[in-house]
Amino acid sequence: MTTNSIAIERVEVILLDVPTIRPHKLSMATMYRQTLVLVRITGNDGITGLGEATTIGGLAYGEESPESIKLNIETYMAPLLNGGDAAQVAARMQVLDKHVQGNRFAKCAIETALCDAQAKRLGVPLSTLFGGRVRDSLPIAWTLASGDTARDIEEAEKMLAQRRHNIFKLKIGACSVREDAAHVAAIKRAVGDRASVRVDVNQAWSETDAMLGMRLLEDAGCDLVEQPIAAANVEGMARLRQKNRIALMADEALHGPADAYNIAHQGAADVYAVKINQSAGLSGAQQVAAIARAANIDLYGGTMLEGAIGTMASAQLFAGFPSLAWGTELFGPLLLTEEILTEPLVYRDFELMLPTGPGLGITLDEDRIAHLRRDNKR
Ligand SMILES: [Mg+2]
Repeated sequence: MTTNSIAIERVEVILLDVPTIRPHKLSMATMYRQTLVLVRITGNDGITGLGEATTIGGLAYGEESPESIKLNIETYMAPLLNGGDAAQVAARMQVLDKHVQGNRFAKCAIETALCDAQAKRLGVPLSTLFGGRVRDSLPIAWTLASGDTARDIEEAEKMLAQRRHNIFKLKIGACSVREDAAHVAAIKRAVGDRASVRVDVNQAWSETDAMLGMRLLEDAGCDLVEQPIAAANVEGMARLRQKNRIALMADEALHGPADAYNIAHQGAADVYAVKINQSAGLSGAQQVAAIARAANIDLYGGTMLEGAIGTMASAQLFAGFPSLAWGTELFGPLLLTEEILTEPLVYRDFELMLPTGPGLGITLDEDRIAHLRRDNKR
């Protein structure tokens, strides 16, 4: 550390419990609330960076829970960060990678907070640290996951009328393949050419289920199938891709650059759902995107249903992807009942607008944070 460097003074982790606007039904869990894991890292110059490590359904989706993320950052990672040069983000992450296995979501929150703080110091948007932007807004898909076909159609019509979303992702896999395909077909018939309809099976199908499902979904006018089978079955994904025309997206199978390379090598996906948390951070997600580009695999900007911080961190990175053929699903804050920013994110004309201010370009509403934090509740 040089004498002029800025030392990390404080790493703080807060759990916020926020109800969802409706039950969000996935093949592995039904969510009634989301727990946002907020990370704040402050340097001895007084500048604080924000990061978020949010997952889905406790331990139902991934091997990190909100509680384990908080414990592991506080117990093992904060001591490795404190006193280190806050401006050298790569060096801080290298120290973490050397001493901490896995924990991709926790690392993502820390890298985001370090990058937010450093971009604030430089007075530039966070996207500038990753090469700048090729777009100032991002297309935003909405997930229809109420579990009820009529309610989903009503919700889709409302989103189209409000010009908020014209890409719909349907969460399926909890019912039989034929029931699910009928559900998708009904929604596609209702919205017609006004919207793109896609499905996410979240690994719920066997390979034979998927062979039937993908054919039925293609006939229904569905544009894409996301992670139909187990993440570990990359060979199966390659077989499904060879035998079906409908676009196939890898999501849970994609835990960063090494998986991105392997899936590309095996020809097991047409599209990658790039997620900053799954990639252990913004740098990892940028590497996933680079591998996809080199392998002629299209990109989709994925979400772990993060709140405003993780959503904006993702948006700042995705804004610089040369191509983003399938848009994004950065709608996390819209699924939550509570606003945690002083100025909400701007969703308009089917897109999320990127702010131009330094860092993430967002400001937390500290009163709302104090109200929502778990440790403030009796
Ligand atoms: Mg998915």
